[in-house]
Amino acid sequence: MGEKDHSDHQLAGDAGLRFAPLEEIHRVRGSIADPLARAAITGDICRLNTLYMIMNAGSGHIGSSFSSTDIITWLWTEELRDPNGPAQGSDVYFSSKGHDAPALYALLIALGKLDASLLHRLRRFGGLPGHPDVETPYIAANTGSLGMGISKAYGMARAHRYLGTGGRIVVMTGDGELQEGQIWESLQPAANERLAEITVVVDHNKFQSDSAVAAVSDLGPMRAAWRADLVDLGLTDRRSGWPLEMVLRAGAAGWRIAELPVRYRPRQGRSKVTGTVRGTLTAVQDMRSQLQHLAPTAS
Ligand SMILES: [Mg+2]
Repeated sequence: MGEKDHSDHQLAGDAGLRFAPLEEIHRVRGSIADPLARAAITGDICRLNTLYMIMNAGSGHIGSSFSSTDIITWLWTEELRDPNGPAQGSDVYFSSKGHDAPALYALLIALGKLDASLLHRLRRFGGLPGHPDVETPYIAANTGSLGMGISKAYGMARAHRYLGTGGRIVVMTGDGELQEGQIWESLQPAANERLAEITVVVDHNKFQSDSAVAAVSDLGPMRAAWRADLVDLGLTDRRSGWPLEMVLRAGAAGWRIAELPVRYRPRQGRSKVTGTVRGTLTAVQDMRSQLQHLAPTAS
């Protein structure tokens, strides 16, 4: 493929590739009443079609696509309100990592939001681009350099508030992507300005393009909530990396991201530490006593 994105190993494609046609997807989805089971089977079908698209194209990011499939399926089918629709107040979803574009394409095709013929036109002229592009229907943001998604969500949230349109903004990031400094820079203003309409989903699949995340720069443990709260959800699906049941049960249990009042007032006047002579002397004395206390003794 012409695009350099670390996945240029030519994948073996042959006439034996199989995919799930749209009518079968509709038949299956229409036959299942339980939302969780319906989303789970939809996700599995989308993985099949994602694999087909990538193998047919000859390149693409299978892991990044597969690990995001369940969460985007749930978001787009059960959670978000008119995602990326034209109506005022519609919720917005986009991927910051972008490498999972085939999964979103497969889902959009399954939901009838993209033409089914595009299933065969990933990374083809006039087809679906390897990375998300706003020229494609229902794609809210381009990707290129990693780490920019939360900044974009911040800008969207500010614009929504200015225009009074409302709507939630969900941005999917990769775990390897969290190594980008811009991620952390963008979280600060989003938090300081209480932009709770932004939800950041971290697809913690423990791998990035070239190797394990831990081998590059370990993120340490990432947990969605306190252990006791998670145990109380009564999760039965313990497959690693598939959080669909957790998302569903947490939502049913009333877990929400919300703005909370914080007892905080911006400081007025000079700093008590460095703004006065007494404050400065106290700080120096405190520091000196600590240094004396911690000083190594001669032996
Ligand atoms: Mg990853």
